[in-house]
Amino acid sequence: MTGPLKHRRESSAAGASPFGHLAARPLDRLAARAMDVLFPPQCLRCRALVEGPGSLCGDCWREVSFVTEPHCACCGHPFAHDVGEAAVCGACAAQPPSYGRARAVMVYNDASRDLVLGFKYADATHAAPSYGRWLARAGRTCLADADMLVPVPLHWMRLFRRRYNQAALLAHALAKETGVPVSPRALVRRRRTPPLGRLNREARRQRLSGAIAVNPEQAPDLKDRRVVLVDDVMTTGETVEACAKQVLRAGARSVDVLSLARAVRTEV
Ligand SMILES: [Zn+2]
Ligand SMILES: [Zn+2]
Repeated sequence: MTGPLKHRRESSAAGASPFGHLAARPLDRLAARAMDVLFPPQCLRCRALVEGPGSLCGDCWREVSFVTEPHCACCGHPFAHDVGEAAVCGACAAQPPSYGRARAVMVYNDASRDLVLGFKYADATHAAPSYGRWLARAGRTCLADADMLVPVPLHWMRLFRRRYNQAALLAHALAKETGVPVSPRALVRRRRTPPLGRLNREARRQRLSGAIAVNPEQAPDLKDRRVVLVDDVMTTGETVEACAKQVLRAGARSVDVLSLARAVRTEV
C-alpha cells in the first residue's frame, strides 16, 4: 500500500507503546533489529533469507502471478488482452453473479498454492499483515466505500481442528490496513460442506445452498451496508456466490469479494 485508504483510521491503538509516541519509535526500531538478528526474515514461501519480514524472495516473486489489469470488470478474471475497462468475461455475461465485483491478489498456481496452504495448515499466521496489505491493494476499488468486511465462514468442526479460520485472519489483517471493520460471525456454516471438487456444478450448488446462512444475531447489522466478503481462495466462485446471496437477502446494499488467490479458466 503506498497511500492511505479513505477508510484508514486510528487502527494502531492496540499496538501503541506505553512509552508514548516519541519514545516508542527508537525502542520499536531497536526491538525490530534484535528480532531480525534472532529471527532473520524469511521468504513467505520458501524460507530463504530476505531483506524484510513478510516478503518473498526474488525467485518466488517471479513465480507468483499477481492479478493485474486487464481483467473482467465483474469477477476479476484476468484477460490476455485489453478489451476495455467495463468488459466482462463470458461466464459473467452468461450468468451475472450476485456479487458486484470480485478481486484477487494472485492467480492460483503452484507458488500461490504454497502460500495459501501454508497459511491454512502450516501455522504461517505471521504472513497475515503482508496478505492484509496485498488484499488492500488488490481490492482498493471495492474497499473505498466499504462498510464491513465479512469472512467466508469455516464450519466449527474444521475450525476446531485448524484452530483458526484463515479467511477471518485475512479479514482482520485487512481491517488493520484499511480501518474497515470486520464482522467475523455475520455468516455461519449450518452444516459441514464436504469437499466440492468432484461434484458437478448443479450438485455443488445444491450442497452449498442452505449450508451458509446469516447469523440471526448479526442480520440487522447487514441492512443497507456495503459488504466485502473475504476468502483465501476463490475457485469456482460458488461458495462466495452462496455467501453473497445470503448477505443480500439480509438487506445488504452491495456485496463485493476479495480473495488472496483465484483459479483461472483456460476459456474466458
Ligand atoms: Zn522464496
Ligand atoms: Zn467475469
